[in-house]
Amino acid sequence: MQVKAGPVEGVQLTPFIDKVGFPLRKKPIEVLQINLGKRCNLACTHCHVEAGPQRTEELSPELCYQLIEMIRRFGQIKTIDLTGGAPEMLYGFKPLVEAARGEGKEVIVRSNLTIYFERGYEDMPEYCAHQGVRIVASLPCYLEDNVDKMRGRGVYDASIRALRRLNALGYGSNPDLILDLVYNPQLPTGEKFSLPPAQAKLEKDYHEFLLAHFGIKFNRLLTITNLPIGRTKLHLKRRNLSESYLHFLEANYNGDTVEPLMCRSQLSIDYLGNVYDCDFNQMEGLRSRTPEGTVTVGILLAKGSLDVIEEVETAAYCYGCTAGCGSSCGGALV
Ligand code: SF4
Ligand code: SF4
Repeated sequence: MQVKAGPVEGVQLTPFIDKVGFPLRKKPIEVLQINLGKRCNLACTHCHVEAGPQRTEELSPELCYQLIEMIRRFGQIKTIDLTGGAPEMLYGFKPLVEAARGEGKEVIVRSNLTIYFERGYEDMPEYCAHQGVRIVASLPCYLEDNVDKMRGRGVYDASIRALRRLNALGYGSNPDLILDLVYNPQLPTGEKFSLPPAQAKLEKDYHEFLLAHFGIKFNRLLTITNLPIGRTKLHLKRRNLSESYLHFLEANYNGDTVEPLMCRSQLSIDYLGNVYDCDFNQMEGLRSRTPEGTVTVGILLAKGSLDVIEEVETAAYCYGCTAGCGSSCGGALV
């Protein structure tokens, strides 16, 4: 069942699914993205999860057990993608990493890097290297001022120190220790909106700057568009920019991005075990559906299948994934 984008604050957008022109069918599921909860040592302005140090929501031991069962039972899962909050500080992190690596699956940890300097998490780089997990780390700009403005004072410096520690362990040079960085544009303060620059060109700039100034190496740069949800939505609303930003995204619609949209081959699971088509839908509470109703981890286990959802649920903010070169948790799409 499709949930069509209705008017957002009086905006007359073309409903996303009408723009696509055909039902957005699921493909066989290959990726499980698990959001372990909302606690984080940072509270970034662009955070679509609205995470922060005061948040207490996290995975339960029962759900952790069910997720491990899922990882072991479904051979079709290629990748376990752990996010949060800061996934490293949330319940279930290590058991899930070890269960997935034990089954030979790729594990991605979405790290804010600064967590390595919090008490109790100092050994996290060594742990990740030992387990061979792929680290995907936010570094929304290679310049200090821009990063500190978005993520808080001192975050750039801590990120650079963390990247150096990861490099010293082989991340960025050992082919088994992948280190990717994530760029997202600064939030707009006026009608002058922008999409991320071309990923390959920006990646080259990041490589040159970080190597020349800090001797830092990394693998790929992933560019991600700011979707108008979470704190970004609040930011836009306060400046009366929500409508014009959505129109900007729609005006940049690129049909070539639809085929590889990440929501088609992944499931996103929240800390309560509810299932969504992507992390953005999770943050907006737009759950995956079958003709029988919404889906949970328990239902998938009972049915013995991950492929029970026919169509992706969509909303107006989906235009953020199809604008320009497209956007996903794995970066640009085309
Ligand atoms: S963007 Fe990432 S690091 Fe920043 S508050 Fe949100 S979860 Fe934490
Ligand atoms: S927000 Fe993006 S990834 Fe999520 S359902 Fe919409 S198009 Fe798919």
